[in-house]
Amino acid sequence: MSDAIGIEIPEIVNAQRILAIQPHYDDNDISVGGTLAALVDGGAEIHYLTMSDDLMGVIDASWSAEESSARLRDDQRRAAGIIGVPFQYWLGYPDAGSYDYFDVRRDMIKHIRLVRPDVVFTMDPWMAYEAHTDHVLAGRAAAEAAILYGLMRIKTDAEVDENYRFHPIQAVVFHGTSYPNTVFDISSSIERKNQALRCYKAQFHEASLDGLVRRTTEYAGRIARDETFEFGEALKIMPPSLLHGVGQALTF
Ligand SMILES: [Zn+2]
Repeated sequence: MSDAIGIEIPEIVNAQRILAIQPHYDDNDISVGGTLAALVDGGAEIHYLTMSDDLMGVIDASWSAEESSARLRDDQRRAAGIIGVPFQYWLGYPDAGSYDYFDVRRDMIKHIRLVRPDVVFTMDPWMAYEAHTDHVLAGRAAAEAAILYGLMRIKTDAEVDENYRFHPIQAVVFHGTSYPNTVFDISSSIERKNQALRCYKAQFHEASLDGLVRRTTEYAGRIARDETFEFGEALKIMPPSLLHGVGQALTF
C-alpha cells in the first residue's frame, strides 16, 4: 500500500483476461514472460498485441520482408505455445520507423474494446534512460488507451465501437520499469520463460540467445534477492485512476 496515496496496489493473481501490449514481438516474453506464464497457471486468458512489424532486427539481410514476417510470427507462435498465449494481434507499424502516435492509440483502444481485458500489461514508457522510441510510444499509447477507452466519442472501428459496452480495467501493469512496486514470483515459471525466449531465432543467433537467457535469469535472481522466493520480475502495478493528474503516482 502506498503511504502517499492510501490505496492498495491492485491484485493481479486472479486476472481473468489480460491484454499484453508490446512494441516488438519478443518484449513481453523477455521482460515479463515469467509473470504471464504464472498468471496463465492461475486461469488468466492472455492476448498479445504487437505494435511494430519488427523487420529491422532480423539476423539475415537476405530475407525478404515476407520471409522475415513469416519467421517472426513462427517464432512468436512457438513461444506463445510455451507461455500459454492463445491470441495474437499485430498492428504492423514500421519497426524503428515513422508513424503517428494517435493512430497507435486508436488501434490500442480498439483492441481494448474488442478483448475487454481486466488487466493491461505494457512496457513502462517512463523508464529512466529508455532510448528506443518504439518502447516509449507503445507504452505511452497503451497507458493512455487504458484510461480513454470508455470515451465513445473516440472512434476506432465502427463495428467494434457499436458492439462495445463499458467494462472496467482493474490495473495497468508496467514492466521494464525504473519504479517497481511489486516483485512477482516467477520461480515456478522461469523455465518456461527461458524456453520461450529460445524460440526467438529470427532476431537472435544461438550465442545471443544463450546470453539473453543467462542475463534475464541473473536479473530475475537479483530482483528477488530480498524475497522469500528465488526468481522475480519487477512490476509497477497501477490502478488506471492514478494515470492522470496524480503527482504522487511516481511513489505509488
Ligand atoms: Zn523491443
